[in-house]
Amino acid sequence: MPAPSVTVRVPAKVNVQLAVGGPRPDGFHDLANVFLAVGMYDHVTATPADALTISCAGPGAEDVPLDAGNLAARAAALLAARHGRRPDVHLHIDKDIPVAGGMAGGSADAAAALLACDTLWGTATPRDELLALCAELGSDVPFSMVGGAALGRGRGERLTPLPVSGTFHWVFALADGGLSTPAVYRECDRLRGDRPVPEPEAAPALLAALRDGDAARLATAVANDLQPAALSLRPALADTLAAGALAGALAGLVSGSGPTCAFLTDGAESAAALAAALVAGGTCRAARATTGPVPGATTLESHA
Ligand code: ATP
Repeated sequence: MPAPSVTVRVPAKVNVQLAVGGPRPDGFHDLANVFLAVGMYDHVTATPADALTISCAGPGAEDVPLDAGNLAARAAALLAARHGRRPDVHLHIDKDIPVAGGMAGGSADAAAALLACDTLWGTATPRDELLALCAELGSDVPFSMVGGAALGRGRGERLTPLPVSGTFHWVFALADGGLSTPAVYRECDRLRGDRPVPEPEAAPALLAALRDGDAARLATAVANDLQPAALSLRPALADTLAAGALAGALAGLVSGSGPTCAFLTDGAESAAALAAALVAGGTCRAARATTGPVPGATTLESHA
C-alpha cells in the first residue's frame, strides 16, 4: 500500500492595487491590498513521519529554508499545537512560485501545509479557525487559503471577498534573485521621508473594473505604492517594465514587493506574444502567461 499522503495545490497572488499607509508603532503598515490569485502554483504534500521535516524542489529551491523557519513548517507546528498533538509530518514543497518574488510563495506554502496537515491528521479544523491560524502565520496567508479576489485591510489579513467577472490575462516577468519584503517597506518609508501619507483606500474605479471584467479599465487603475521602492533597490526593473509597455501590455507594475513584474493583456494570444517578446528582449529570466482569478488552496489527492 502507498504511504498515506495529502497533496494541496496553492496559487500565487498579484496585488492589482497595493496602497500603503505610514508605518504603525508596531512596525507594520496599514494597507488597502487588492489581491488576485493567479494560475502559478506550488504543491505541498504531507506524509506521516517521525518528526517535522521539509524538502523542496523546483526553481529557487536552494533559497528556501528547510528548518523550522520554513513557513510551511511553522504552519504544521501551529496546527499541531492547536490540537495538542506532535507535528510529526514530512512536507514536500514543489515550487513553481518564484522565491522572494513578491507573489507570496512562502505564504502560499503555509496555507497549503495547514490544509494538507488538517486533512492528513483528520483534525477537521473549522474554516474560520483555519483562517485565524493563517492570519497568525502572516499577512498574506489568509488570502492564499481563500484565493479568488479580495480586499485586504489592516496588514492585509482582514479580507473581504471581491466579485470578479470573467478572467484576466496576465504575463509575469520573473527576475534573477529576490527582494526582501521588509527591505522594500523600509525603502518605501525612506523615500517618503516626512511627507504626509494618506489613509490607504481601495480605488472605486479598480473595484468596478474587476466586477465588470473590464481589462482596459483595470489597466488604468492598477497601482502599487511599493513600486518606487522596488525600482530604487533594483533599477533594472524599469527596463522590464519599459519592455512590457513597448510590447503592447495594457498595463505593467511590480508585483507586491517585487522583483517579479506583472503585465495585464487583453487575451490569451496577446499574453503569449507578450511573454515571447519579454524573453526575447532579455530583460527578465523567464516570462509566464497565466490567468486570474483562480481558487485558493485546494486538496488534489488524499490517500490518507
Ligand atoms: P510576499 O509577496 O508575501 O511579500 P515573497 O513572495 O516576496 O513574499 P517568499 O517567496 O514568500 O517572498 O519568500 C520570502 C522569504 O521567506 C524567502 O527568502 C525565504 O527565506 C523565506 N521562506 C520561508 N518559508 C518559505 C517557503 N515555504 N517558500 C519560500 N520562501 C520561504
